[in-house]
Amino acid sequence: MVRVSSQFRRSGGKGAGEIKAAACGWKEGNGGGPAPGAEIKEYKERAGGAFQAAFKAAYKTMCLTIPAKVIAIDNPVPGFPVANITVEDSKGRKEIKSLWLPELKVGDWVLYAYDTAIRKVSEEDAREILELLEPKKHIDISALDTGFLEVLKGHSTGNLSRDGIVRLLKTEDPLEMETLFAEANTVRQASLRDFFCIHGIMEFSNHCAMNCFYCGLRRDSADVVRYRMTPDEIVGAVEDAVNRRGYKLIVLQSGDDFHYTDIKLVEIIRRIKKSSKVFIFMSVGERSIECYRRMKAAGASGVLFRFETSNREIYNLIHPGQSYDRRMELLKGMKELGYYIASGFLIGLPGQTAEDIADDILAMKALKVNMASIGPFIPCASTPLATHQAGSAEMTLKVTAVLRLLMPRAKIPVTTALETIESEEGRRLGLSSGANSLMFNLTPERYRGDYRIYPNKYHGKEEVWEKYGLFNEELSYRMLEKKMFEAFEVLK
Ligand code: SF4
Repeated sequence: MVRVSSQFRRSGGKGAGEIKAAACGWKEGNGGGPAPGAEIKEYKERAGGAFQAAFKAAYKTMCLTIPAKVIAIDNPVPGFPVANITVEDSKGRKEIKSLWLPELKVGDWVLYAYDTAIRKVSEEDAREILELLEPKKHIDISALDTGFLEVLKGHSTGNLSRDGIVRLLKTEDPLEMETLFAEANTVRQASLRDFFCIHGIMEFSNHCAMNCFYCGLRRDSADVVRYRMTPDEIVGAVEDAVNRRGYKLIVLQSGDDFHYTDIKLVEIIRRIKKSSKVFIFMSVGERSIECYRRMKAAGASGVLFRFETSNREIYNLIHPGQSYDRRMELLKGMKELGYYIASGFLIGLPGQTAEDIADDILAMKALKVNMASIGPFIPCASTPLATHQAGSAEMTLKVTAVLRLLMPRAKIPVTTALETIESEEGRRLGLSSGANSLMFNLTPERYRGDYRIYPNKYHGKEEVWEKYGLFNEELSYRMLEKKMFEAFEVLK
């Protein structure tokens, strides 16, 4: 049964019963969170089992927070830190607990996780995050082509074929596209509720031994101001991102820069793991599988390693001196090592067809990637593809939506490339089409402008998102750990 109808029941209103999306967290000193250790102990002693249950729930689900309006409060013990409350969100009313929110009143807005409200937020803040994700239009599906609806239904029965994917990718009908995006958004909600998260990427070197046709950092680009961050700079910048801004997962990215030997990379990972509670993803290109084994042993959790296209002809054309087979072999080897795999492809490459993109999507599914990283090609001066047309935002959103239909529980970030061609709207569009995470640039300002894979990289309003999506606490690290573990279980 196609689920589009559930999506469209909601109007564009902003009442508590119409909440569409959300997510977030709590930050220290921002109006909530558990009391310091001594108070916890005291409350534990006073509350016994009730405390344990509430704390356990919050502990287990800290990352998954959703704005909701408080409808009723039942607090049998004045001053007691746990109260039973009723909240209302997009799925209706729900009985939950509030934890350390003694000032909470009916009509307030909270962020809740699983069955525990963990932070009070202003209505303005709640609406701010809802506004970022709320679809703007009401969709009438009665006018849709029945063939299109049949294809769309296919995902719920596991029958979305290559031809069906091509049909979805080729549509240019505005109503069909909106329906596709809305369906993907519904699948995201059904599979992951309204959970999304924010991760960081730190580009520590823009030197590269490769010569990819689409990339401004390619070896032959003469106009690039090259830089390398020292291990001290990398470790310090990660510490700042983790301890001051609350990041819990950071991708360390560079070109294929062998100045950083295996030993140096391993040492950097070890130092970061020693000084910061953070998941490290490595995006350092084609190294030996032994290097990846050593980085894993040092503490790296994941890799960001895109295959860019599954069309060998296109791959060979734009990757001189590289081999598609070697790349795929490496990816499989990384998976066997137990890495959390982030991979993906470019949209809008020369000669690429909708059929090619359907194959790319199916390759992602076959690889069982944990994180699907896709983005539009953006031309960059001084590269062989400088005059080639950019990939479209529309196709990027369609691909995002189809990926969500096929991989309901995968992490799908909105990539900076989409934000670059769509500016501020890119994030909302991406998240409204099935994406569920954001990847913010953490490269120190002095280097950021020189990591120019393509020009005019977008960044903006990160602080608004950080306010809702990051945590400073140990608990959120554990939550992410649990989510990553679940992703492995689901994709096994
Ligand atoms: S895409 Fe990566 S490997 Fe290719 S030139 Fe750019 S930085 Fe180097």
